[in-house]
Amino acid sequence: MTDLSTLLLEWYAHNGRDLPWRFKGGKHPNPYIVLISEFMLQQTTVKTVLSYFAGFIERFPDIQSLAAASIDEVYQQWQGLGYYSRARSLHATAQTIVNQYAGYFPDTRSEVLQLKGIGTYTAASFLSLAYNQPETVIDGNVMRIICRLYRFTEPLSDIQDKIRTHAEKLTCPKHPADYASAIMDLGATICTPKKPQCLLCPWQKHCLSANTPDVETIPLRKKLAKQEKTGYVYLIRNRKNEIFIRKRTEKGLLSGLYEFPWSDTTPLFPNAPNTHQEIHHTFTHFKLTLHIHTLQAEEMAISGHFVSTEMLKNYALSTLMKKVANKISEL
Ligand code: SF4
Repeated sequence: MTDLSTLLLEWYAHNGRDLPWRFKGGKHPNPYIVLISEFMLQQTTVKTVLSYFAGFIERFPDIQSLAAASIDEVYQQWQGLGYYSRARSLHATAQTIVNQYAGYFPDTRSEVLQLKGIGTYTAASFLSLAYNQPETVIDGNVMRIICRLYRFTEPLSDIQDKIRTHAEKLTCPKHPADYASAIMDLGATICTPKKPQCLLCPWQKHCLSANTPDVETIPLRKKLAKQEKTGYVYLIRNRKNEIFIRKRTEKGLLSGLYEFPWSDTTPLFPNAPNTHQEIHHTFTHFKLTLHIHTLQAEEMAISGHFVSTEMLKNYALSTLMKKVANKISEL
């Protein structure tokens, strides 16, 4: 065990966060809990995941119940977490574990990497936390800490191999699960992007960036401006005041979810009156402004169906479409 990992583990023993998917002192007794948390935490903050985790586990308490559920049931329980392709991958992975592994979780890197929705990071994190295997977990938090600790000031994208080499050397081979959790917690609570609290950091005496005025500029990220798009969304009502919704295809952005007809290219119904109300939403790679239009119709030439506004809550809508739904009563 290196000095640095000893210091970090001592700090973690007293300061590590208590999280429902966390087990201090070695491998987690239930790999299912780790798996669910790993999928939820991809692209979503701990704070948000905490609001949905217990409800999901209550609804699907084990891998068998998740595998047996329909994808719509999974989507519904996933509502609010966004990035629904993760829910689809998690569901497929649950079915693989039940059907190919008889419900036993695989514990080798090559097998875990075969599961849908699991890349290098998630595989390392799962094997570390669920099986206490000496995997090195590297996410944005870990990269930031390593760059500051060794004062790597080159652009982040140019030094990925160097970061991995140093991160692997730091990983504690005897306590990999606790070490992985500890370095995540250090990044989330002490070595934060803004205003790191170096005075409270267990690595302060060894860190080449500790208390330096430019610490916040490390690591150096090349920023790409987000593309801006404009689109159109349609609230189509029939005589019974029901609203038209459709299901997206099973591939691509927001796939499998229900939505009001919309387009981010050309208007679908050029004559539909514009309400002059807008919805703003930020996706990973672009910002979208949707202009809300209304329409009266009894039948539509596109696939979908009318539902009452009371029944709308039973359909899994993306966060974008929830924003539109929240406007219905005003229009
Ligand atoms: S001393 Fe400061 S900059 Fe260095 S790892 Fe700790 S919190 Fe980060």
